[in-house]
Amino acid sequence: MAGLEFNLSGLGRGAKKRDYDVIIIGAGAAGLTSAIYTSRARLSTLIIEKGAVGGLAGTTHLIENYPGFDAPIPGPELMDRFKKQAKLMGAEFFTSEVIGVEKGPYIRIKTTDGDFNAKALIIATGTTHKHLNVEGEKEFYGKGVSYCATCDAPLFKDKDVVVVGCGNSGLQEGLFLLKYVKSITFVEFLPYIIAEEILQERIKKYENVSFLLNHEVLSIKGDERLSSVVVRDRKSKDIKEIPSEGVFIYVGLLPQTEVFKGFVNIDKWGYIVVDDFMNSSVEGVYAAGDVRANSVRQVASAVGDGAIAAITAEKYIASMED
Ligand SMILES: Cc1cc2nc3c(=O)[nH]c(=O)nc-3n(C[C@H](O)[C@H](O)[C@H](O)COP(=O)(O)OP(=O)(O)OC[C@H]3O[C@@H](n4cnc5c(N)ncnc54)[C@H](O)[C@@H]3O)c2cc1C
Repeated sequence: MAGLEFNLSGLGRGAKKRDYDVIIIGAGAAGLTSAIYTSRARLSTLIIEKGAVGGLAGTTHLIENYPGFDAPIPGPELMDRFKKQAKLMGAEFFTSEVIGVEKGPYIRIKTTDGDFNAKALIIATGTTHKHLNVEGEKEFYGKGVSYCATCDAPLFKDKDVVVVGCGNSGLQEGLFLLKYVKSITFVEFLPYIIAEEILQERIKKYENVSFLLNHEVLSIKGDERLSSVVVRDRKSKDIKEIPSEGVFIYVGLLPQTEVFKGFVNIDKWGYIVVDDFMNSSVEGVYAAGDVRANSVRQVASAVGDGAIAAITAEKYIASMED
């Protein structure tokens, strides 16, 4: 890009330069798909990722509703394939956290490791796990409290654990935990289980599983490590203390959009508002995947969004050069 000066110091975690045709924030299913498309269109592409490449799907033990596989595929394996394909097409990766975005002649992306510039920006920052915000949750994080069964299940071999939340995520991750743990007590705030029927049927076959529906978690207790979870029956108000060495929390997701507030339009729940072509309220800026408003939050939909955002970005860049 002519006319822009860049500080090239501090590079070395994947990025070869400071200015790109397309920058993608987030290396989950949506961001990696966008990268496959834009790199294949011969646009210089950088993906900036603050954590592990693969995003949420990379921490899910099995995915069985993503088309093209006749057996469930481990999430980490699926996302590794996405990553390899993006690299093969020429996408570059940079490990850093995006902390701000500005629109000038180009789009300036500020990271904890310096600024980058792009003609087009695709925001694919997804969501993060909601916390219960109860006493002990922060204190025992990593000492019994977890938000990722795929990452932590082997640490709870032959132990009694609690899973909070009976949505698809809670039951799906519970099924994985059952390969390791002695027992699971599921705690659900609602008086019924909201997960898909197929998951309910599978989990109910296990004898070492019990359900406390219509219960809320009051606190998480322990000494050096977690030893119990205190819950209250929302109807009778009875309080129970469940002896447990681990608690896995799946109570919903929060969009990762804090840094984009005031830059693009965001809905009342914090998701980025886009049109059918993934255009945000700012020209040249797109959102794709779980982070965009009205997403069904699945790998398949993130992939579709990522492709749409990339093709829209390609057309925008081509129009700049007309
Ligand atoms: C427990 C669980 C089970 C699931 N099971 C299934 C399933 O079986 N089938 C299915 O289709 N879907 C499933 N999903 C949903 C699926 O994982 C998501 O829909 C999909 O991963 C969304 O992809 P994404 O690219 O939009 O976002 P994410 O995968 O969330 O990726 C976003 C990435 O952006 C990065 N990021 C965020 N902010 C910044 C920043 N400021 N700077 C740099 N990087 C940043 C994050 O670190 C992350 O890697 C499941 C989800 C959960 C939680």
